[in-house]
Amino acid sequence: MSILKKLLPIDIASGMKLTGKYFGRNFLQANRSKKHVHITVEYPETPISIAPRYRGRLQMLRDEQGEIKCVCCLACEKICPTQVITINKGKKEGRKTPYPTRYDFEMERCIFCEFCVESCGFDSIILNHQFELAAYNREDFSIGMHGEYQDMFRVSPVGQYSISSSASPDAPDYTQ
Ligand code: SF4
Ligand code: SF4
Repeated sequence: MSILKKLLPIDIASGMKLTGKYFGRNFLQANRSKKHVHITVEYPETPISIAPRYRGRLQMLRDEQGEIKCVCCLACEKICPTQVITINKGKKEGRKTPYPTRYDFEMERCIFCEFCVESCGFDSIILNHQFELAAYNREDFSIGMHGEYQDMFRVSPVGQYSISSSASPDAPDYTQ
């Protein structure tokens, strides 16, 4: 049996059988419904839908007044297993709660465990849907509160096609 299995491409045949089954089913379904069934997406022109629970890049959030939600409790900094978050606690005029004068995130060491988000009792941070995280320079992985391309509140240029509003109807608009 083992020699026969080696000589005859049984595994290839069973794989092709499965492929044929799904191809036939989709083909018939598309013909019956007279609708276009999109199996592929014209990426990058068309943004890709990401599963709602996808863990992308760390991003800070603001409240309705546009104020930074983070109150510098340092829970995320302390729980991060790879120590990629650095926060400096400070004050801001007219604000009662502490204000982060610095919030840095070294993305190249992030393992996307989401411990930081879970530890935040103020819903101040999320792991957004940005999956295009490649960069040419190491500096591009350093994200902070300020900076044209490394802004913690915005999608960085490499992620311009990552975010799709169709990812989740309830998902915040990460591009604002
Ligand atoms: S996702 Fe995990 S590794 Fe990345 S910053 Fe948050 S706690 Fe740290
Ligand atoms: S856990 Fe939340 S509120 Fe606390 S420092 Fe981190 S982001 Fe800010």
